[in-house]
Amino acid sequence: NFFESNPIFEKDIPVCRPFASSWDDPCPVKLNLSAGAYRTEEGKPLVLEVVRKAEQQLANDLSCDKGYLSIDGLADFNKLSAKLILGDDSHAVDENRVVTIQCLSGTGSLRVGAEFLAKHHQQRVVFVPNPTWGNHPFIFTLAGLSVEYFRYYDPQTRGLDFEGMLEDLGAAPPGAIVVLQSCAHNPTGIDPTLEQWEKIRQIVRSKGLLPFFDNAYQGFASGNLDSDAQSVRMFVADGGECLIAQSFAKNMGLYGERIGALTIVCTSQDVARKIHSQVLLVVRPMYLSPPIHGASIVTTILKNSDMYKDWTIELKGMADRIISMRQQLYEAIQARGTPGDWSHIIKQIGMFSFTGLNEKQVRWMAKEYHIYITYDGRISIASLSSKTVPQLADAIHAAVT
Ligand code: PMP
Repeated sequence: NFFESNPIFEKDIPVCRPFASSWDDPCPVKLNLSAGAYRTEEGKPLVLEVVRKAEQQLANDLSCDKGYLSIDGLADFNKLSAKLILGDDSHAVDENRVVTIQCLSGTGSLRVGAEFLAKHHQQRVVFVPNPTWGNHPFIFTLAGLSVEYFRYYDPQTRGLDFEGMLEDLGAAPPGAIVVLQSCAHNPTGIDPTLEQWEKIRQIVRSKGLLPFFDNAYQGFASGNLDSDAQSVRMFVADGGECLIAQSFAKNMGLYGERIGALTIVCTSQDVARKIHSQVLLVVRPMYLSPPIHGASIVTTILKNSDMYKDWTIELKGMADRIISMRQQLYEAIQARGTPGDWSHIIKQIGMFSFTGLNEKQVRWMAKEYHIYITYDGRISIASLSSKTVPQLADAIHAAVT
């Protein structure tokens, strides 16, 4: 009985989650704002119209089968995903020095990239922002890399600690991997400006660091796919190397389809070809090949100009609703005369607001107001509605007064 005798299984260890679970709370008006998932004004998950349309088209297409994809996934999906992040006029794509493989959403793309780097990159240190998405350290550590932090958030200004960030990146050892969230930074909602991105690019390149972009929210920040890709494109335009993990969970609402892509931008076609086969060797013993359905949906939409346009309209609709929720929450807090400056709620961008509430206040709000947010004070603005804004504003007001 190997498991019986293993002390690790003697205790029931709860899954480590950075928030209190709302599951056991029987309150009918409990509000779960911890998970990063878009909800409609009615509080329901949203399946995009264009996704329904693509699925119908696929269901009617008798040439579609359920056979294995190749190790790197659907070829058209890979091409179109690379174009989506790098742009229609990308020199790197034209010069065939881009490797893209279909992966299991953003997380799977990060993990395959991390496994590839752990196997083939000499520098084992990866720098992530402080703070960052809670899964980043696990993904890179489990791949065998050693995780360090660069300064990102300044609690005093509730903004970017830009000087600190540059200083830390400047002191990183040559070859170090740097994880950069391309837009809508999770959890802070604070992105560098384009001028700041340019300075980040200069320091990353001059110090010989390797950028690994986490592109989980393209289109979700500004509502525009090209604007949200500018940080990545700036780095690719200089001709240097980088990795990009792409997710269609948020921007197409395909959370459960687990569809994303890993792109590796190389400096020559020859190296790209060799890297491609090495990435296949990473994937094959892990899961052989990726699932077909999500990739077929994305490809159908990206391929068809009418459907692509419909997608951009629905995506903008989601981004605009989030922006309007920020405004409503800010105004509701102002109207209550809550002490403090809450303008960061409307200055931040993307799905989340990093409120500045501390863990004690967060736990208190769960107990007294049945509102659940992560212990670091992060609220999923995308899960809020006009109906629930007053409830949240009341709770915040009570928590800080
Ligand atoms: N990166 C960041 C910054 C995220 O916030 C998330 C999801 N919360 C992911 C990657 C991964 O998402 P998924 O695997 O669902 O695409």
